[in-house]
Amino acid sequence: MSRILSKSSFVSKVISSTRKDTNLFSLTETSNKIVHEKPDIVINAAAKVGGIMANNTFRTEFILENLKINLNVLESIINYPDIKLINLGSSCIYPLDASNPIVEESFMSGKLEPTNSPYAMAKLTAIEMGNALKIQYGHKIINLMPTNLYGPNDNFDLNNSHVIPGLISRFYNAVSNESSEISIWGTGAPLREFLYVEDFANAIEFLLEKEWEHELLNIGSGEEVSIKQLAYLLKEISGFKGDIVFDPSKPDGNPKKLLNLDKINSLGWESSTPLEVGLKKTYQWYLDNIA
Ligand code: GDP
Repeated sequence: MSRILSKSSFVSKVISSTRKDTNLFSLTETSNKIVHEKPDIVINAAAKVGGIMANNTFRTEFILENLKINLNVLESIINYPDIKLINLGSSCIYPLDASNPIVEESFMSGKLEPTNSPYAMAKLTAIEMGNALKIQYGHKIINLMPTNLYGPNDNFDLNNSHVIPGLISRFYNAVSNESSEISIWGTGAPLREFLYVEDFANAIEFLLEKEWEHELLNIGSGEEVSIKQLAYLLKEISGFKGDIVFDPSKPDGNPKKLLNLDKINSLGWESSTPLEVGLKKTYQWYLDNIA
């Protein structure tokens, strides 16, 4: 994101902050960073993230750590209503029974999907607190709801990652070990929409220059695939010759969560990296940097 933003004609300076230089679990450190840097815009992309297994297992840490980060970032800007905030949410904040493609208006209209409800609850709290700041103190805040992101620098852990990096590691290992089969979690039936991370960074850059009239804004690719289709795409890209088997003892999670993109599309943005192209780039990045 820093690389893409630093090329923007709209941006004079990008101040990136990692967990090494600011402890966002500390309100004092977070506030000090804001006071010291005096940014015009804060992009809150900080979160404890993980895939379905991590979210479902470390439920306490997912709600606790994400709440702390978000509350500290938002509390730190209370006295600075001129600082604009781009707050990152997730498509998992929408109700499980929201009709697809999911419109922004389905926000808070039903129950959450249980495997990642602690994470979603922390993200919902950040949106609500941002609204409080807007109404009470006049802050300008936009909440972006990206679909499942993937790409270089992702977490490629076998167990705690999201499906694309998890499967890239799994397929790479299967090819290296000449395995006869590969096991994919769940039934393969869930439908997902994936967005290449550079497209998402470009969307943020695009939005910097726009009026933020929307409270929530979905960002996705509009391309829906089943986990089974995804697995077969990665089989081809990795050159794996064995069989794909599905393990229904592992959770499927949400059966579908395609986002409606009418709002961002009407502002003039759409994604530019087809899934197959993004997967090839990500697999190559994995080969060059991790394998
Ligand atoms: P979700 O979109 O929040 O459910 O997040 P994930 O990216 O973790 O999972 C998406 C779907 O991929 C779920 O239905 C998983 O069961 C399925 N899946 C299949 N194999 C894997 C894997 O190796 N890792 C992960 N994380 N998910 C997998």
